[in-house]
Amino acid sequence: MINVTKSYLPPLDEYTQLIETIWRNSQLTNRGPLVKRLEGEICKKLNLNNLLFVSNGTIAIQLAIKALNIKDEVITTPFSYVATTNSLLWEGCTPVFCDITTDTLCIDPDKIENLITPNTTAILATHVFGIPCDVEAIEQIATKYNLKVIYDAAHAFGVEYKNKNIFDYGDVSTCSFHATKLFHTIEGGSVTARDPKVLRLITLYHSFGHIGDDYYTQGINGKNCEFHAAMGLCNLPKLDELIYERKNHSEHYTSLLSGTIISRPSIPENTLYNYAYYPVVFKDETKLIKAKNLLFNNGINTRRYFYPSLNNLPFLTEYYSCPVSEDISKRVLCLPLYHDLEKENIEKICIIINSI
Ligand SMILES: *Cc1c(COP(=O)(O)O)cnc(C)c1O
Repeated sequence: MINVTKSYLPPLDEYTQLIETIWRNSQLTNRGPLVKRLEGEICKKLNLNNLLFVSNGTIAIQLAIKALNIKDEVITTPFSYVATTNSLLWEGCTPVFCDITTDTLCIDPDKIENLITPNTTAILATHVFGIPCDVEAIEQIATKYNLKVIYDAAHAFGVEYKNKNIFDYGDVSTCSFHATKLFHTIEGGSVTARDPKVLRLITLYHSFGHIGDDYYTQGINGKNCEFHAAMGLCNLPKLDELIYERKNHSEHYTSLLSGTIISRPSIPENTLYNYAYYPVVFKDETKLIKAKNLLFNNGINTRRYFYPSLNNLPFLTEYYSCPVSEDISKRVLCLPLYHDLEKENIEKICIIINSI
């Protein structure tokens, strides 16, 4: 079976060499040397001022919500993974869904202002599939209405917009380093904050709210450990190569897929893209289901990312209409994309889709 994604695994001896250092110094977790080294290396690689390595990409969003003191209504995207919405709900906020644009599949800034009420405190948007949101328009609205901005950048590791790393936009950007993501630490995530004071607060929160015997505030456990950091340290130097391979695979798909069968989201100008996913949008849901089943019968697993549109989640109390997201969600399919995906398999997939 060909899966939609496959985790990159470094040569085993590279990993065991780092693991041996853990055996020598006996520090397994609580901000050990490998965690700090990973944070430093990621900052260097991505040209960031700060980054905190946390246990996953979901707690990263929750920590950001807490540290920015976000409450009540938060304008958010219906086209993302369910963790985006769930972190808001879990932190007691009300998600207010704003529709997306048909070209980037990210939140539509033209539709945000209509949703702002006296109870709106923030915008939580996702750079979906690694495609940057309209960060400039969002920034303008946030400044005008005094709103905080969190970007769920779980798909956007390595993406740059206008020569700046994508994590440098918004008050806080979060990422997921889960095994299915482009850069992974098995489980893991990160937080980058514009204001170093916010990062310090998040650092305190992610470690129970105390430093030694000084108890400052309520906290939670969002720490990551030395073993996961070791995986990250092995994977990080391979990032450029992994992106390069995915770029080649993506271009191969694009050269073979018929434009009359599917369309593709567009990447804004001035973006250095990371090729994290290969989504295709079918003309209608019937064609998508036909393609998905035919691919599956030929040993190829695809994923309906993202379906359903999050404004339709069954446990929400209020319905916000998002026609674009609801329509796209029914028609979008992610095709297999990973570093060592074989050319022949890409060709096989394209023949099947073109036959629909
Ligand atoms: C994967 C993902 C998350 C959650 O990350 P975890 O590390 O699995 O908690 C959040 N948002 C988006 C958009 C994701 O794809």
